[in-house]
Amino acid sequence: MSNLGKHAIVIGASMGGLLAARALADFYTTVTVLERDAFPAADTARKGVPQGRHTHGLLARGSAVIEEFFPGYNAEVVERSGGLIGDVANDVIWMGRNVRLASGASDLIGLIASRPVLEGHLRRRLLALPNVRAIESCAVQGLATDSTRKRVTGVRACVDGKPEETIEADLVVDATGRGSSTAAWLEALGYEAPASEKVEIGICYTTRTYRRRPTDLDGRQGIVVAGSAPNWRSGVMLAQENDSWIISTGGFLGDDAPDNDEGFLAYLATLPTMEIHDVAARAEPLTEFRRYRYASSLRRRYEKLARFPDNYLVFGDAICSFNPVYGQGMTVAAEEALMLQQCLRAGSDELARRFFGAAARIVDIPWDIAVGNDLRHPKVKGARPPMQRFINWYIGKLHVAAAKDSTLAVSFLKVVNLMIPPSSLLSPTIAWRVWRGNLPTALSVSSSAVERAT
Ligand SMILES: Cc1cc2nc3c(=O)[nH]c(=O)nc-3n(C[C@H](O)[C@H](O)[C@H](O)COP(=O)(O)OP(=O)(O)OC[C@H]3O[C@@H](n4cnc5c(N)ncnc54)[C@H](O)[C@@H]3O)c2cc1C
Repeated sequence: MSNLGKHAIVIGASMGGLLAARALADFYTTVTVLERDAFPAADTARKGVPQGRHTHGLLARGSAVIEEFFPGYNAEVVERSGGLIGDVANDVIWMGRNVRLASGASDLIGLIASRPVLEGHLRRRLLALPNVRAIESCAVQGLATDSTRKRVTGVRACVDGKPEETIEADLVVDATGRGSSTAAWLEALGYEAPASEKVEIGICYTTRTYRRRPTDLDGRQGIVVAGSAPNWRSGVMLAQENDSWIISTGGFLGDDAPDNDEGFLAYLATLPTMEIHDVAARAEPLTEFRRYRYASSLRRRYEKLARFPDNYLVFGDAICSFNPVYGQGMTVAAEEALMLQQCLRAGSDELARRFFGAAARIVDIPWDIAVGNDLRHPKVKGARPPMQRFINWYIGKLHVAAAKDSTLAVSFLKVVNLMIPPSSLLSPTIAWRVWRGNLPTALSVSSSAVERAT
């Protein structure tokens, strides 16, 4: 592949930054990842990634893309750290709209392990590349530019608490997550900050880890319950390394689960299935309760800016962070890394304009899935155009049909796993199955007979 420069810098060594660095490593002589934290000796949670103590799973698309970048990654997480690979449609139970989707074999292979384990393996694989290095305890303070301020030439950073120094680079990528300072840095340089879209959901994850027995949940690897009327409470329980379960639960707009035994169990008992409650009620707790507040889904529209400095990009959660219940963030970062490579193959001219445009098209789908579904909650503020109302109505009907139709359930989970676009659920074949699955029972039996006969 062509060499586009001597040095690229990625700010932030979380999942987004590590994936961006992997993409850049094929195009720059050296790639340096700058991380404010010191890397933990074992795969444990760290300050800069507070969500790391909460339930994380890698959707099928994310798991496949990371495997493409780092062959053997998924097996490594399983074999060395006790993560689990599984058929997302068969080994995990999915509930939405108070309906349990029919299980069925699929080619949707997901990866589950604690977030620090997922990140630790990725970091070690990245840093094993000969042209990638990391500087830990390196807090980036701002950007360095040329005298015209049109071109970013590096970053200003404090390493190990020492006075600020400039680290030069041909390209700088901001992967500092949702709290990114790029908007402020741009304004300080005389550029406009990007417009942002926010959908306030007021969610708080209350999370605890428990000992897992092989017979729990009939040997399945997890259950995902997406909030719906009347109480809109969600719950996720996923198997993790060290024979453990991680359970997170919470509701919209301040309807938080209590962080004490009795209250937590009582809250879990209000989910539309008792399966998470029943495991939590008898399993041995392995940690204290932990909380993570997530006020809003947030999208920054870099693709709409008229002016942006050369040699600078923004990546991952710094562009868009989604309601975590849908488990999309790491997969979106992986897709952006693939797209970044595609953009770099065409050279570095107009890179920001090309990358932000392409990243916006990647983000559109998970954003519409997450926000579209959250807007079903009557108190979540946001526009609800007629098309959105129709889609939500249709997806409700799809759930009813998918309770008995595993083919339909798998198609839906392919969309959820970002493998196929949501529009595919409107194809005639799928629409027919949705229609059939919503017929009164006698009619539905006879329409199945018609299908078999034709
Ligand atoms: C509760 C919760 C649950 C989630 N569950 C899932 C899930 O199941 N599946 C999924 O795919 N996604 C999930 N996500 C989203 C996922 O965590 C993120 O999408 C993912 O971490 C990628 O984010 P990132 O690397 O862009 O940013 P972050 O993870 O926020 O990382 C930013 C990094 O930048 C560093 N940094 C910040 N400022 C500086 C600075 N000035 N100088 C140097 N370094 C700096 C930080 O220390 C950190 O390492 C969840 C999110 C939350 C909040």
